[in-house]
Amino acid sequence: MSDAELVLRSTRVITPEGTRAASVAVAGGTITAVLPHDAEVPPGARLEDVGDHVLLPGLVDTHVHVNDPGRTEWEGFWTATRAAAAGGITTLVDMPLNSLPPTTTVDHLRIKQRVAADKAHVDVGFWGGALPGNVKDLRPLHEAGVFGFKAFLSPSGVDEFPHLDQDQLARALAEIAAFDGLLIVHAEDPHHLAAAPQQGGPRYADFLASRPRGAEDTAIAALIAQARRFGARVHILHLSSSDALPLIAEARADGVRVTAETCPHYLTLTAEEVPDGASEFKCCPPIREAANQDLLWQALADGTVDCVVTDHSPSTADLKTDDFATAWGGISGLQLSLAAVWTEARRRGHGLEDVVRWMSERTARLAGLDRKGAIEAGRDADFAVLAPDETFTVDPAALQHRNRVTAYAGRTLHGVVKSTWLRGRRIQADGEFTEPKGRLLTRTP
Ligand SMILES: [Zn+2]
Repeated sequence: MSDAELVLRSTRVITPEGTRAASVAVAGGTITAVLPHDAEVPPGARLEDVGDHVLLPGLVDTHVHVNDPGRTEWEGFWTATRAAAAGGITTLVDMPLNSLPPTTTVDHLRIKQRVAADKAHVDVGFWGGALPGNVKDLRPLHEAGVFGFKAFLSPSGVDEFPHLDQDQLARALAEIAAFDGLLIVHAEDPHHLAAAPQQGGPRYADFLASRPRGAEDTAIAALIAQARRFGARVHILHLSSSDALPLIAEARADGVRVTAETCPHYLTLTAEEVPDGASEFKCCPPIREAANQDLLWQALADGTVDCVVTDHSPSTADLKTDDFATAWGGISGLQLSLAAVWTEARRRGHGLEDVVRWMSERTARLAGLDRKGAIEAGRDADFAVLAPDETFTVDPAALQHRNRVTAYAGRTLHGVVKSTWLRGRRIQADGEFTEPKGRLLTRTP
């Protein structure tokens, strides 16, 4: 501790070994030691005592659509990373689509990195994209530092990012397995979707019927079969259908390298309460019934679902029409994800340690970010300071993302983020931000 520049002290520090009173020593942006609460502060070091507020590792959100450049009017790096910082997220990994260009070649990755460089309030990494016809680009992207590759098995919603059929999926997986990369997959089966009733209009029940659980289950079964065939590592994005949980559990027990994530909106909102015409609740796959939600929580508790990420996917407000068939599908959750998940987790008897495991430790592990995701010596000094018992009512005007559309408006949530720290620097406190100092991250070779 003698070389510490900063000591953060709290009666409740969440470490991999549990929650305890501690003093966390920081030097050069790195945690150097986790010491007893009453450890002596060395001369020259600054003490930051947050009292009984909880000190938790900065969250790692591996599923964010920043849309910059190209659809910057939907969202951009400046606004998305401020929303992240306000919500206690210190690292985000950007999805390869909805920006123009999409992140499907090394040249496109360079463009995105240039755009993000001076705007990032938090650390930012990038997923690449697997499209029909870009198999040759996958290894160069991997070597350029993307964390893995996203593919769709059904139409993505934007023309420049077409989905893979099963043959194309096999070709991509064979290539990715050859360099032991990771494929992350939007798993809905296009034939199953096409066969579902496509009523359109403002009724949520009709929208839900148009994206049935079976479309997810079918696609996930096919993906597992392909992962098994190639020995490839795959990750199921934004799992909504609880019917697919046994498939995932069995495959994993059988040695298939498959992980899964779900999202705050599937865990905290239910189909039964979505008002008709309220397309701020539209996402694909959709928010399902309360009974489905109970099973997703059970799967988080038993480890079948590994982690929770936002799938923050905004658009301009005019694209959120009251017709569920044509409205943009995507929920903006960056700033509220921690509070939303914590509010429901505590109601269900889970602890903050569980939330940290799902939203920081496991997401860091998914992306191989071995300096993130825990408060322990050798990791980046990324923290959120949280008042877990304080409540607030969601006011869209207080949100930092570009288009202040939210499915959480008017809800009262537990958990107020008091400040956020990135590599030992306070980047946000009570809604005031410092200049952006986020770094661009690349995969650890
Ligand atoms: Zn997404």
